[in-house]
Amino acid sequence: MGDPLSAMSTIIDGAQVASGVRDDLGEAIETLADHGVSPGLATVLVGDDPASETYVNMKQRDCEEVGVNGVHVDLDGDASPAELYETIEELNTDPEIHGYLVQDPVPEQIEYGEVIRRISPEKDVDGFHPENVARLVARDARFKPCTPHGIQKLFEAYDIDTEGADVTIVGRSSIVGKPMANLLMQKSVDGNATVTVCHSRTTDLAEKTRRADIVIAACGVTELIDGSMLSVGTTVIDVGISRVEADTEKGYELVGDVDFESASEKASAITPVPGGVGPMTRAMLLYNTVMAASESEGVPVELP
Ligand code: NDP
Repeated sequence: MGDPLSAMSTIIDGAQVASGVRDDLGEAIETLADHGVSPGLATVLVGDDPASETYVNMKQRDCEEVGVNGVHVDLDGDASPAELYETIEELNTDPEIHGYLVQDPVPEQIEYGEVIRRISPEKDVDGFHPENVARLVARDARFKPCTPHGIQKLFEAYDIDTEGADVTIVGRSSIVGKPMANLLMQKSVDGNATVTVCHSRTTDLAEKTRRADIVIAACGVTELIDGSMLSVGTTVIDVGISRVEADTEKGYELVGDVDFESASEKASAITPVPGGVGPMTRAMLLYNTVMAASESEGVPVELP
């Protein structure tokens, strides 16, 4: 017999919502094409980190599928900062590239913050440049960072209202936790939440997750959040993706920051890993690229 208080979870299908976003992008890309514009996205990878290689390959495949002109630049793992800066300068001035990113992590001889500062803010489709961070905080976002934006799209697709909700975010990184907190606390229809941001020095994490209507786990600690840390009816968004050694063809499996089995006994809605937040992050990168092309070429497009 199951727990009488257990809820029937809705599994949030990120792949399906992402597919809807891509359909909308398809129309915008056609409008751009009518004006002779082909949106261009470049990815830069320094070194051969296997997870990073997989990510950039997926991003390039996404480009092909929706009709974005994808360009990939590979630099050796021992590339000097100057070599990378030269690539960045070329991309900043390449009229065919509307947006690009340098895949994190970069090797230790390179300082990622400096890399971000050198990317032209108009082409910074990850939304990490300090100018874009400031604009987000000022409620004048040029590009919303892809993962938090994708999560907002999931809320919209599943009618999960953040207005007045208590949201606990586990993780305060610049790419997920902080921009997510910022977006959700804003005075806007897709915000208006009361946000608690937790991190590695937080005491009594379970108390913060149990009191939340929505828990967003983005800490990179496999299965840190389990059902015992959740109240019945919580919406659970699992951002985490860790490769864990497993007896599979690839030799690993992807594991999130949430213990799906026990959490889904409590959650009203929950994202799986894979197939939850990941596809949305990728879709929103394409979204930002199309927006960048539209802005820089002066061709208005309609994006939801
Ligand atoms: P970071 O390593 O940059 O940040 C992790 C955050 O979690 C830090 O703020 C850290 O605290 C906090 N943290 C670590 N351990 C604990 C703990 N035991 N309790 C509470 N908080 C803790 O990670 P990212 O934000 O870059 O990524 C997080 C996860 O999400 C990773 O698994 C990553 O692979 C995944 N990811 C998935 C994406 C997707 O599309 N699905 C996109 C981006 C990331 P402190 O600040 O104190 O160190």
